[in-house]
Amino acid sequence: MNLIGKVALITGASRGIGRACALKLAKLGADIAINCSKNKALAEEAANEIKNIGRKAIVIQADVSKQKEVELMVETTIKQLGSLDILINNAGITRDSLLLRMKEDDWIKVLETNLNSVFFTTKAASKYMIRKRQGRIINISSIIGIAGNIGQANYAASKAGIIGFSKSVAKELASRNVLVNVIAPGFIETDMTNALNKQQKEIILSSIPLKRYGKPEDVANLAAFLSSEESSYLTGQVIFVDGGMNM
Ligand code: NAP
Repeated sequence: MNLIGKVALITGASRGIGRACALKLAKLGADIAINCSKNKALAEEAANEIKNIGRKAIVIQADVSKQKEVELMVETTIKQLGSLDILINNAGITRDSLLLRMKEDDWIKVLETNLNSVFFTTKAASKYMIRKRQGRIINISSIIGIAGNIGQANYAASKAGIIGFSKSVAKELASRNVLVNVIAPGFIETDMTNALNKQQKEIILSSIPLKRYGKPEDVANLAAFLSSEESSYLTGQVIFVDGGMNM
């Protein structure tokens, strides 16, 4: 499996799952545009790691919930790295609270960051990919988008939205050889899940058949496969990386 000559844009790649995807794709030969929102220093660190293994890397600070910033990000990737073959929509946030306590702003912020962003990036990138008659779009959803979760109505809605969006776009773009798939991770050890307390983590662990939390690399391995030639007969799929939580 190799990605030599490919260019990937990965949103939210300063840390966690996005960063692991960036490193994995670079190790397979791709040049990478690393998007971040606030943590530019971390993103630069990831870019340097990629440059050290001989690939090109650029950092693009952009808020993915803002259409104009997304359009500029896609344009910059193509200008500076010469192409855009793989888009991984990974940036995401949580703003958890029970429904009756959930503020409108918590609802809007999560939907804008997790779902509107996927519309903006996919629209901008697919224009280019359609012309090239080739492209891979990988959207990071969550098992919460399938199963729901107490305190995460906003997050679950955003992640379920990604699935419906991706299947529709997969159907629209298949004839142009642009493949769209979804990864639905379970519990992956990152800053996002570190916010949970010990008791919450233990309850989750007891529901994982493989009896361990996932690592960002577990998701990155699937993202690499979905970016590669080896997955060229796969589109519109939702694949779980969850240690068997969703069976
Ligand atoms: P994380 O460690 O909290 O990292 C989030 C990333 O998203 C950071 O790079 C952050 O950039 C970026 N980001 C946030 N808001 C942004 C915005 N408005 N514009 C651009 N970038 C933005 O999260 P993670 O755990 O790796 O999660 C990555 C994705 O996987 C998310 O979509 C999440 O919902 C999904 N997921 C995670 C898990 C899990 O267990 N961890 C499970 C299922 C699904 P800065 O560093 O600049 O803030």
